[in-house]
Amino acid sequence: MVTDDTAVSHPLAKPEEREQTEVGNYFVANYPPFSFWKPEYKSAVEEVLDKPAPSDVPLGVYFHIPFCRKRCHFCYFRVYTDKNAAEIRAYIDAGIREYEIMAEKAYLKGRKPHFVYFGGGTPSYLSVDQLQDLTDRMKAIQPWDEAVEVAFECEPGTLTEKKLEKIREIGVTRLSLGVENFDDHILELNGRAHRGKEIERAYHAAKALDFPQINIDLIAGMMDETEDNWKRVVEKAISLDPECVTIYQMEVPFNTTIYKQMKETGKLTAPVADWQTKRRWVEYAFDEFEKAGYGVSSAYTVVKNPDKVKFVYRDSLWEGADLLPLGVASFGILGDVHYQNQADVGPYMTALDNGESPIFRAYHTNGEERLVREFILRLKLGRVKPSYYEKKYGVNVLERFAQPLGYLKSEGFITLEDDGIVLSRDGLLQVDRLLHDFFLPQHRDARYT
Ligand code: SF4
Repeated sequence: MVTDDTAVSHPLAKPEEREQTEVGNYFVANYPPFSFWKPEYKSAVEEVLDKPAPSDVPLGVYFHIPFCRKRCHFCYFRVYTDKNAAEIRAYIDAGIREYEIMAEKAYLKGRKPHFVYFGGGTPSYLSVDQLQDLTDRMKAIQPWDEAVEVAFECEPGTLTEKKLEKIREIGVTRLSLGVENFDDHILELNGRAHRGKEIERAYHAAKALDFPQINIDLIAGMMDETEDNWKRVVEKAISLDPECVTIYQMEVPFNTTIYKQMKETGKLTAPVADWQTKRRWVEYAFDEFEKAGYGVSSAYTVVKNPDKVKFVYRDSLWEGADLLPLGVASFGILGDVHYQNQADVGPYMTALDNGESPIFRAYHTNGEERLVREFILRLKLGRVKPSYYEKKYGVNVLERFAQPLGYLKSEGFITLEDDGIVLSRDGLLQVDRLLHDFFLPQHRDARYT
């Protein structure tokens, strides 16, 4: 999912003190911060689009489906829970119109996606017919015969056997199930639409269809989470035997229902576990998955078979691939320019109806920003090789980032080894709060919005 985030930076992260969960994002999804992206920079996108693309840059296509059955209390995305079939059809038509226009531009003309991603919202909210229609039309614009990954996010309660068959048939290779927890009380309290039974049914139906990869998402520290329940969640996830599990630590961004309630009652601390507890829970999960034969492949992921389980979308994007964002509020990057579409469905569709660009804001990165971006995002993998940056950017990152690296080393968050910079488990579990130390000075105090 292309995520927005609202992190508040804190140069040179302080050693541990017991940190309650307060409002704001923890997760660093992109760089430079979104608050630096501006409507007045939109012309930079047009400039990129007018020139042919370099032949060695892979292309990804992201299609955003902003519909959900119910709004989760921790959700900060723009989602719609009240749209009927005709409105959804009109939205798909608008997204396809956007795609047709973009695919005719010099930068995208004749290219085929190396990866495709359906994020949301809930892509699996679409009906079987809508899914067929959407993907047929996308493939007619840019065929998928060179796509090595087609990823699709699902909410378990929206999946029927028929729909899963269709998702498999249209070419999805990576099915991502937003499980979050298995306990019905916790799911309900946190506003999730699905329940444990539906997870079970959807997971086994998907497994029977032999998707190349099934990922399940979990969240450590949802409201009312307990030590014992989290242990059961981990045990249950292991028993399902997925190829890959993604584990996030619960955060409470500004525009969530949880924050609204905090504000109404004058509370500064969110009603979820503190950060140390969440890290300990993720650590427990990592340990248990390792015992079950999985490997920890990033700050958020464990995988069963690292040779087979690839993260084409994530890795390509972090390494500088193009990502064409389609749909409302979508984020992407073409060449050196980040951009985001209009965040509300009304202005997004009106722009396309009027033959205008639905782009809302953009940011043209310079070389130094690209270096910082690629360095901090890849630190989330737990290991980076300085030789990679020397070759790509002509920069010795050990010298360039000597100060923050020295600090992380002194705190035991990293070690410097022959083959690179290696995060300790402790460093990996809190990597997002450590990344701000690598930001350029002008971005350090920015809030991501
Ligand atoms: S399913 Fe995902 S996108 Fe939809 S409301 Fe819940 S968290 Fe938000």
